[in-house]
Amino acid sequence: MFAASIAIAFILIKNVYSLYAACLFLICIFTLIILYHTFWIYRLSKWLDNRSIKNLPNGYGVWEKLFTQIYRTETKQKKSKQELFELLEQFKSAAGAMLDGVIAIDKNSEILWCNKTAQKMLNIIPKNDYHRPITYIFRNSIFKEYIENDDYEETLKLTLQPSLLPLEIKVAFFGANQRIIVCRDLTKETENQNMRKEFVSNFSHEIKTPLTVILGFLETLEIQSDKNSHDKKMISMMNDQAYRMKNLIDDLLLLSQVESSQDINRSEKINISSLLSNIKNDLIKPSTKKQKFKYSIDSKLDIYGAKHEIESAFSNLINNAIRYTPINGEISIQWNIINGLAIFEVTDSGIGIPEKNLKRISERFYRVDPDRSRETGGTGLGLAIVKNIIIQHQGEMKISSEINVGSSFKLIFPKDRIVS
Ligand code: ADP
Repeated sequence: MFAASIAIAFILIKNVYSLYAACLFLICIFTLIILYHTFWIYRLSKWLDNRSIKNLPNGYGVWEKLFTQIYRTETKQKKSKQELFELLEQFKSAAGAMLDGVIAIDKNSEILWCNKTAQKMLNIIPKNDYHRPITYIFRNSIFKEYIENDDYEETLKLTLQPSLLPLEIKVAFFGANQRIIVCRDLTKETENQNMRKEFVSNFSHEIKTPLTVILGFLETLEIQSDKNSHDKKMISMMNDQAYRMKNLIDDLLLLSQVESSQDINRSEKINISSLLSNIKNDLIKPSTKKQKFKYSIDSKLDIYGAKHEIESAFSNLINNAIRYTPINGEISIQWNIINGLAIFEVTDSGIGIPEKNLKRISERFYRVDPDRSRETGGTGLGLAIVKNIIIQHQGEMKISSEINVGSSFKLIFPKDRIVS
């Protein structure tokens, strides 16, 4: 329409005046059009610099349509932004009211946000610690490994860490590789557990004395009874069962002692090579199974710790290797520094442990084959004792195993336990 009017005006001016006048007219019109659009582009760019619905110009002609469209889009966006903000505020206040600690971290494990409970639990100070990796703020090697592993199927329990609330940690992914960490305070649960442990410990103490008396009488009776008599067999069976009970009570007492004595001084200088030769004399030489033993022992490598606990942990692992490895099998015992850490490793070519049992194998009374364990004199507490001892020495236990191929148990001690 506009173009047609210009064309008619152009022809009229050309016919009435001259072609020159008509061209001049056209140039004026185009200049006006350019000025008009430049003006509105300028208004648009001004508005873009200070984007607010209130300042949006009305426009004219084609610009009116454009500004109306911008107005609609902006209003819609503002509304959804507001809704999102309200939702976020609601989430924050709900998470803030939770008794559990909630922390959001990004793909680099940097803290994005956390609620008040989490701030108290993990000592997070928002103004200093936001946008810093959580593993810098909450320094714990087990937690660090758990967060970095990206496998959160199982929850993490931090119950034996000195100067830290007992915590259960769950992690879930959200958004673009971001994660939510939920920390639950296990103080009440731990207190109940401690009460149960205390009961078991007291009970074991009480039963130990009468059992020792019974064992003494049974031994005397066994010696005094006729060699092939029926009584002798019965007494011998009673003796065996009483010994099993004694072993169980001893292990229960040792376990409760290791678990409860978090504050004892585990800084005795231990000569590991002499400790290992004691174990060799007490355990390996008397063994009737006669497996092949290999040793790789750094005789100069000593550590600081509680000697009786370390001896018990090493003996338990060697004893298990002997019990679960057939005659002619191989058992290797290694004590060396690897990557700056002191590592005790027992590897055997025994029956192995099925993969599905590996995760629970160090729980108390958890056995792959309870009959086999009992037949070989096991109490089901050995690995639970070992695990607790290594945790009390700030180290960790690693187990790998393949069924019918063999198992490897590693006790890893931290650098600062090595005697330099
Ligand atoms: P137990 O007294 O039953 O041996 P432990 O706590 O020492 O108790 O070990 C728990 C379970 O782990 C055992 O019952 C056994 O099934 C398995 N196990 C431990 N050590 C070995 C090993 N070296 N080879 C195969 N299985 C093992």
